[in-house]
Amino acid sequence: MRVGIGYDVHPLVKGRPLVLGGVRIDHSTGLDGHSDADVLTHAVIDALLGAAGLGDIGRLFPADDARYKDASSLDLLSGAMDAMRGAGYRVVNVDCTVIAQEPRLQPHVAAMTAKIAERLGTDRVNIKGKSPEGLGALGQKAGIAAQVVAVIEEMQRRTPPPGAARRPPRQAGR
Ligand SMILES: [Zn+2]
Repeated sequence: MRVGIGYDVHPLVKGRPLVLGGVRIDHSTGLDGHSDADVLTHAVIDALLGAAGLGDIGRLFPADDARYKDASSLDLLSGAMDAMRGAGYRVVNVDCTVIAQEPRLQPHVAAMTAKIAERLGTDRVNIKGKSPEGLGALGQKAGIAAQVVAVIEEMQRRTPPPGAARRPPRQAGR
């Protein structure tokens, strides 16, 4: 088992769609960034890559690469999953906190959970919305942040402990 942590923050600006966890949410402002700026999905990617020891989202998908301009972050997540599976890991569970003064996230949590779970190949995805209670930049609606913890495990079965393979098979009658 390995654990990874992911954090991301993007500014909220007018004239951009708000996408969280792959779900387009009707709102007066949206997150600014090179891709769709899906702060939650970016934090999930960083948590998974961190757990697998594969660096971070910027290393896998460079921001100066034109291929990722306005890219769907769910597709980036699928790319990160490919890299993680290639390294021999699968997801055990993922727990997420999205810190947003607005909008209220509760009505969208089920849809966001389903979209991310589909890409991760597990239904062990938990998403929590948290209000910054008006404090600081996030409380002034300048942006939205996300924190994610991911646990992953090796796909192949562990090799037996030394000596186990040499133990003679049980014989009938003994
Ligand atoms: Zn980001």
